[in-house]
Amino acid sequence: MKFTFVTLFPNIIKCYFEDSILKRGIEKKVIDTQFVNPRDFTKNRYKKVDEPLIGGGAGMLMSPQPLDSALNSIKSVSKDAYMIFLTPSGKRFNQQDAKRLSKKRHLVFISGRYEGIDERILETHANEQFSIGDYILTGGELASLVLCDAISRNVQGVLGNEDSLKDESFENELLEAPAFTKPDIFKKNSIIKEFLKGNHGKIASLKYELSLLKTKYYRPDLYKKQKNEGK
Ligand code: SAM
Repeated sequence: MKFTFVTLFPNIIKCYFEDSILKRGIEKKVIDTQFVNPRDFTKNRYKKVDEPLIGGGAGMLMSPQPLDSALNSIKSVSKDAYMIFLTPSGKRFNQQDAKRLSKKRHLVFISGRYEGIDERILETHANEQFSIGDYILTGGELASLVLCDAISRNVQGVLGNEDSLKDESFENELLEAPAFTKPDIFKKNSIIKEFLKGNHGKIASLKYELSLLKTKYYRPDLYKKQKNEGK
């Protein structure tokens, strides 16, 4: 899986791949990254990438030409390039999107800056538009990393143990059951005793019950959906 980041600030993103699971994914050659800076595609003397808003309004907007040229250059060498724009107006990204997009061969994440991107660029190039939540970030770089991270763990070969993906939160609209590790007693608090007895059938059904209760308590919206879908 190839990830291309279109950004005015590639260094913000690059450091995330210097450690841990995504670094290993690159070393194992199951994922690959590329960075494209729209500033390198400007056709003006000063490498200017922003312009004031037409029609009034505070701040600047990313101008269309450098982005259009940058995206066309990516498309000209990759027929698989799938363009994803990070924007507060996009669909709220979720785990189903992460799984679905992990099947693509080449994802291109386009990060806005300033007051965002000229709408005509979105209309021309966007395959999908995603938001990571109802708040405003200074740029799309963090959002693109959120998507890349969540998608990558579903790419075969990225996780050391792919069983980790089973029974995770949001599978079947449920949150994962409470989890414990050693020691059995920590600051006088004991773990659930049944977990120590080694009866895997019983542990599995207990975990399912706990998972239901946890979802009902923390995410009543998911719990309701799960019930309606008869899962
Ligand atoms: N003026 C824009 C608006 O009100 O919708 C916000 C622009 S924001 C300051 C700059 C860039 O950050 C956006 O173009 C987008 O790429 C990114 N961004 C901000 N919030 C985001 C969010 N919740 N999800 C995804 N991207 C976001």
